[in-house]
Amino acid sequence: MQTKASVLILAACLFLFNFCHSPAAFAARVDVVVDHGVEKKAETQARATINGVFDFFHRTYGIAMQRDIRIKLSCDKFNYKKAIKDWYGASEAQASFLSHSSGLAKGGTLIVDLGGTKGNYLQLFILCHEMVHFYQGQESNDKHGPVRWMSEGVANVIAAHIMETAGGQSSGTWKKYWLERVKSVPNFPRLENLRSPNQMMVPLSYDTASLAVLTLVEWRGYPALFAYFRNLKNTDSENAFYQAFGAKLSDFEKSFRPY
Ligand SMILES: [Zn+2]
Repeated sequence: MQTKASVLILAACLFLFNFCHSPAAFAARVDVVVDHGVEKKAETQARATINGVFDFFHRTYGIAMQRDIRIKLSCDKFNYKKAIKDWYGASEAQASFLSHSSGLAKGGTLIVDLGGTKGNYLQLFILCHEMVHFYQGQESNDKHGPVRWMSEGVANVIAAHIMETAGGQSSGTWKKYWLERVKSVPNFPRLENLRSPNQMMVPLSYDTASLAVLTLVEWRGYPALFAYFRNLKNTDSENAFYQAFGAKLSDFEKSFRPY
């Protein structure tokens, strides 16, 4: 999906962020635990990405990290699954199911499998995506879940934006990719049917959710996205959506077409 050179450019740009900006972007404790099997270069890129996310949220939303966060970087599927059991207390069956993913965020604990996509831009994208979930939880007092397509779409769209800001693949390229996938099937999933975690299991749910959130960004800009999550602290998802975007959630869901 992306050349090695671009990943190196990305890492270099994120390093510049680290040196050029004040370290006040987070105030909480951040623990990064790295499997022995993770290559040094992959670890360096991942750490630079983590700092790039802190910096992005600080600059774009004025949000500092207030909660402690633990990030586990696993080197392969075997260790990823083991971390899911050890860190989340998941059963063997649960861990087997969850280990089909490449990254997970639960509470303040984030686990990313760097092995499955070694040396690839995608691993950094997944790391960003999971960190966006962390901020969603912090800003909404953990009430970010009722409209799952929003949570996942926002995580994807902001991850794409952060990577672009850092010199990676452009958001436009991601939009093209999501569109091509959605167009490849006769029927795309409807937003109103993507509200629960189970509903998000259907094919192309993430692509559709991402395109919907991109529409909201084109409409109201990036600041509105976290206005929505902050609103969830005090009101339900319908009101939070209306206050952030000036439209009814159910109307938007019904009227949205990805193309
Ligand atoms: Zn997610």
